[in-house]
Amino acid sequence: MTEATGIVGEFLALKEETDADLLAMQCGDFYEFFDEDAETVADELDLKVSQKSSHGSSYPMAGVPVDDLTPYLTALVERGYRVAVADQHETEDGHERAITRVVTPGTLIETTDDDAQYLAAVVREGDGYGVAAADVTTGQFFVTSVGGEDSEGALLTELYKFDPAEVLPGPDVRADEALLDRIRERTTATLTLHAAESFAPGRARHRVREQFGDDTTESVGIDDDEAAIRAAGAVLAYVEETGQGALASVTRLQTYSGSDHVELDATTQRNLELTETMQGDRSGSLFATIDHTVTSAGGRLLSQWLVRPRRSRRELKRRQSAVAALTEAAMAREELREVLSGAYDLERLASRAASGSADAGDLLRVAETLALLPRAAEVIDGRDQLAESPLSEIVAGADRESAADLAAELDEALTDDPPGTVTQGGLFRRGYDDELDEIIEQHEAAREWIETLDQREKGRHGITHLQVDRNKTDGYYIQVGKSEADDVPDEYEPIKTLKNSERFTIPELEEKEREILRLEEQRGDLEYDLFQTLRERVADRATLLQDVGRALAELDALGSLATHAVRNDWTRPELVEGRDLDIRQGRHPVVEQTTSFVPNDLAMDDDRRFLIVTGPNMSGKSTYMRQAALITLLAQIGSFVPAESARVGLVDGIFTRVGALDELAQGRSTFMVEMQELSNILHSATDDSLVILDEVGRGTATYDGISIAWAATEYIHNQVRAKTLFATHYHELTGLADHLERVANVHVAADESDGDVTFLRTVREGPTDRSYGIHVADLAGVPDPVVDRSRDVLERLREEKAIEAKGGGSGEPVQAVFDLSSGSFQHGAAGDEGQATADERATADGGDAAEVGADGATLDPAAEAVLDQLQDLDVNETPPVELMATVQEWQAELDGDDD
Ligand code: ADP
Repeated sequence: MTEATGIVGEFLALKEETDADLLAMQCGDFYEFFDEDAETVADELDLKVSQKSSHGSSYPMAGVPVDDLTPYLTALVERGYRVAVADQHETEDGHERAITRVVTPGTLIETTDDDAQYLAAVVREGDGYGVAAADVTTGQFFVTSVGGEDSEGALLTELYKFDPAEVLPGPDVRADEALLDRIRERTTATLTLHAAESFAPGRARHRVREQFGDDTTESVGIDDDEAAIRAAGAVLAYVEETGQGALASVTRLQTYSGSDHVELDATTQRNLELTETMQGDRSGSLFATIDHTVTSAGGRLLSQWLVRPRRSRRELKRRQSAVAALTEAAMAREELREVLSGAYDLERLASRAASGSADAGDLLRVAETLALLPRAAEVIDGRDQLAESPLSEIVAGADRESAADLAAELDEALTDDPPGTVTQGGLFRRGYDDELDEIIEQHEAAREWIETLDQREKGRHGITHLQVDRNKTDGYYIQVGKSEADDVPDEYEPIKTLKNSERFTIPELEEKEREILRLEEQRGDLEYDLFQTLRERVADRATLLQDVGRALAELDALGSLATHAVRNDWTRPELVEGRDLDIRQGRHPVVEQTTSFVPNDLAMDDDRRFLIVTGPNMSGKSTYMRQAALITLLAQIGSFVPAESARVGLVDGIFTRVGALDELAQGRSTFMVEMQELSNILHSATDDSLVILDEVGRGTATYDGISIAWAATEYIHNQVRAKTLFATHYHELTGLADHLERVANVHVAADESDGDVTFLRTVREGPTDRSYGIHVADLAGVPDPVVDRSRDVLERLREEKAIEAKGGGSGEPVQAVFDLSSGSFQHGAAGDEGQATADERATADGGDAAEVGADGATLDPAAEAVLDQLQDLDVNETPPVELMATVQEWQAELDGDDD
């Protein structure tokens, strides 16, 4: 390709200046993309590509009209692109183009998505990490630092909670490819490698001071936290450099420490399906189930509560009391929700005002929403229950009078239905500004003069077919019918001849036309100035807007919790000291929506801290355990819970380990992942935590698995001492209850009659007493001798913790014994010759151990092979169709043997 010159050359030169993915360059009334950018944009947005030739070469070109840029830009950025915008400025000798801003996924003000939109920076400092996350659409800004044994895990957990749209890795994070990969895996964020200098300590601190004031780092307690400050400074520098004015709304620095939050690692958030299901769907998540908010800000707050449960009893009681009051005052609750449903997204409007992108409609929406605060306060004050609850503090937290004043000011200023553009006038009411009124009056007088011109001219010249009108090409004109065209006075200057008429103009009309144009321009300019001033006044009140927005969001979130509680008959949990978790007739908050749910009790306390949950596959073990975790979590966001009654000892963390289906899909070893998760729990959980283990050790051979599960149980019981629910199919573990003080057994009951298992969904004390795996094998048609024999094998495994290898076809007495405790065969009565063979074949997990006859020869090989396979087969993990096929194979093998 020859070097491009002209407009394409200018485009390519500007593209060199930016590290953005795409460049939109203004060319008159269009923003154009050229070359590869044109292809990309056309692909993404379904635009037409044309060819632009430039000095013998031809370049793809795609463009959008200037006024339509925002929606296209938003769509591109929401797809993850960073887009630079070059505007055209008039200069004395023509025009100039320069990049004025870069719009990125983390700095997009005009987002169409109601969810929070975080831009996060991550730095490494010593063994820990600093994280800062800003949502420029609402002005929220959080910083924190994480450390500890698994600081990388803690970092990923933070990122998972923010779910950022864009991440800025600091220099040392950038160098760590493995960590970057994990960030990519855990988030959907665009990773942007931003200038390393902005992460430098001195510069970052300076930037933070500039934004939040000199003493803020001290007052929020991060002055010594270099990692947090570096991350915060980098975010601020980046937002500023994108040039969109988005920093103006970021006025409050918020920090949070682990001590008031319940630790919820990313795995647990996913396992408990808080905001999306394991399959990644929103519907079916806890949030989707309990969300009845009527505003997007309320929805954002509620989902923030869910991923950040609290430990402060005071805060939780405050929310509980508010929810309780709202559940009781049904009428007032509905009124309040009705009021709130008229609210716009005030936090976002504040950001738009601050960045200068708000139009007159936006300011009216600000006014309308501000005016709701006094109305909400009225509803609350009007009911004793509500007035005496923390709800009144919430509304009192925002300055009601200032809100009403600003709302009134905006209402008085702006017309009811202002145009979408702010440069062409028509925004302000009469009486707002004298100079404007004067212009409007002159304008109206001029229009009036024109509107009555036809009457005057008809009368003066006695012409009947005369009218005054305007169009784009001719401007204002006087039109006279053909028959009278010759009767017009001399001053009528012809401008156009039509089929049936003639068009004229006169000097006074031309004069008025110029006056009107001048006045319209003056009006547009003046109104634009006035509007900017007004918008700045609103921007100056960003904090007020955020306070009011926050108060309305909180009322909405609490109203939502109350609504869900009432509709689903939830109850207020008692928050207690200590480790009790005492739930009567509890239900799973999500499952109860779609199933006729069988409620269950759960009783745990200091002395009964570890429950081993057994029961057939699909009986409801997982549901029971998740229910316990979700009730605890709901209690710790201040919500009511699905139970007849509940006493909940507050926890400092919830840890779960459940079947790792998604990791399997990602091609990671399930067993490795399982063990990593277990390891994390054993390291991180404390005696104040809640631990949910849904099967441990399944990913490996049976004896490995049992051993790990056994040891983990002991360790949690003795060392970690966390409140734990452990579902296992290793029946052997139930015996631990006899030896470990605080361990107890419960099981999910199932009933069996006529060869059918009926799940009762009821949880009872004690362990299960049977193996349902073999039962399923029986139901599936495995030949009776195999089923009977496997029952026998199992019986012995349980009772004697040892299994003898049965000799010969005639079922002769014991020859070799596989001892569970040693994991190898003991050769009791077996002949010496047999020993070598047996030892060779026996392995630690027993899976490959062959049955050995008296003479040392392998006996009944087909049946023995089938038995081995049966023992190894994991019924729970095998799809029914495969199970049937396997059984058919066995039957064929056994048949073959008979021949
Ligand atoms: P497990 O963990 O024992 O394999 P699950 O907890 O996955 O079993 O539950 C199996 C099915 O039973 C699920 O579809 C679940 O919705 C349903 N279920 C579980 N507990 C109950 C209950 N108490 N009442 C009604 N249905 C339940």
